[in-house]
Amino acid sequence: MSDTIAPVRPARLIINGEAVDAASGRTFTTTNPATGEPITEVAEAGVEDVDRAVRAARAAFEGPWSRMKASDRQRLLTKLGDLVLENADELARLETLDNGKPIFESRQVDIGMVAGCFHYFAGWATKLTGETIPVSPAFFNYTLREPVGVVGAIIPWNFPMIMVGWKAAPALAAGNTVVLKPAAETPLTAVRIGELALEAGLPPGVFNVLPGPGSVAGAALVRHPGVDKLTFTGSTEVGRGIMHECANTLKKVTLELGGKSPNIVFADADLDAALRGATTGIFYGKGEVCAAGSRLLVERSIYDDFVAKLAERASKLVPMDPMDPKCRLGALVNEKQMNTVLSYIETGVKEGATVVAGGKRAPVNGKGTFVQATVLANATNAMRVAQEEIFGPVLTVIPFEGEDDAVAQANDVFYGLAAGVWTKDVKKAHRVARRLQAGTVWVNMYNFYDPAMPFGGVKGSGFGRDLGAEGLLGYTQTKSVWVSIE
Ligand code: NAD
Repeated sequence: MSDTIAPVRPARLIINGEAVDAASGRTFTTTNPATGEPITEVAEAGVEDVDRAVRAARAAFEGPWSRMKASDRQRLLTKLGDLVLENADELARLETLDNGKPIFESRQVDIGMVAGCFHYFAGWATKLTGETIPVSPAFFNYTLREPVGVVGAIIPWNFPMIMVGWKAAPALAAGNTVVLKPAAETPLTAVRIGELALEAGLPPGVFNVLPGPGSVAGAALVRHPGVDKLTFTGSTEVGRGIMHECANTLKKVTLELGGKSPNIVFADADLDAALRGATTGIFYGKGEVCAAGSRLLVERSIYDDFVAKLAERASKLVPMDPMDPKCRLGALVNEKQMNTVLSYIETGVKEGATVVAGGKRAPVNGKGTFVQATVLANATNAMRVAQEEIFGPVLTVIPFEGEDDAVAQANDVFYGLAAGVWTKDVKKAHRVARRLQAGTVWVNMYNFYDPAMPFGGVKGSGFGRDLGAEGLLGYTQTKSVWVSIE
């Protein structure tokens, strides 16, 4: 019952308040990973389009957007959040067609987060304040909390719609204008939200969307001297290159990169809850989730039993047509990603891990980039499948002996994005949460997000935060004003 019958109209660039073709006239085809069939054509932004969009964003920043009352900005962003909800079915369908994720997730999780971001950050537009500072009776000292200017946002393919909310909502609420480049694999929802922003009444040039290849449109945005801040979510490798490049124009930069997050199950946990958390921790979003709990650390005394139950649970999670509301495991984003995931499973076996569930490609109706829910047991933390981001439905399960060993193994990795802790011992839970090197720690839960809670990494997972008050402040800068009053 793949829903490719209703045609999807071609997507164009959103520049300066209009949907336009690329200056070069080039387009590319975006494909449904669940069927391998084309979805529609998309205008392909090049260097010239990036330049036009950045100039439009600059004019809007210096013009209507900065002259607007904060309460009007709040109203427009609230309206955009409302429009996301009003167009939820269409947006969810586009997201699932483009990315392969279950329609259940697009509709029940992603839509709420995107609308939630616009609503939450809209409220902040009227609440960003500076301080008055007591320096001397002769002076009046205060600070202004100002927007940075034009923000370039580059986002990945795993949460194309959510990432628009995470980046654009706080940047716009703080008074910046935005040029956003979605991943070439999944451009459709970002363009649609760009259209909805115009419908909401955002002035031309405030929010521009440029689908196109990272090496051309992305690189041009990173290099452009008219961009004041670059916010990037994606792979560590590309992030590292972006940081180098931003040095040339001294752009502020925020990097949200990959992860290999430990999910730690102590023997004294509520084991049924831990089992559910371990499963959704890796298989939600097909494991193409930066914060996936892809390294499951299980206390040795319960290891064999826990792994057996996990294998049973994973075997029941069968890939299905993502448009089917019952689907909980969709298609990986493309063939390249599927092959990477399958080759990691082979690597794990060569390294000595045992496949206790899944392990294979699993086409649906003979098509698509589906991989079974896979569990690799008897792994050690030194294996590549324990150290490298696989970014697919593959869980590596490692035994540990006691609290110190759990923490040592959890932290023995390049990344530091997220971590989970499962225990009924409240003191141990808080102790371990403090000792873990991660930007987010979930205790007796996993994979929860909210617009109000900051999210980001430490170590190789990057720096800076999305979401929450801290995410918002990343799109501002402080001006100190001294006034002589004597
Ligand atoms: P990617 O790094 O390949 O691409 C991310 C974006 O960067 C895309 O829009 C791409 O077109 C663009 N890009 C590629 N090369 C570029 C260049 N030279 N200059 C400028 N832009 C360029 O990542 P991906 O494969 O799309 O996404 C998966 C990665 O994203 C994973 O590593 C995952 O962990 C990470 N991720 C992190 C978070 C987080 O919050 N930390 C969230 C989601 C995904």
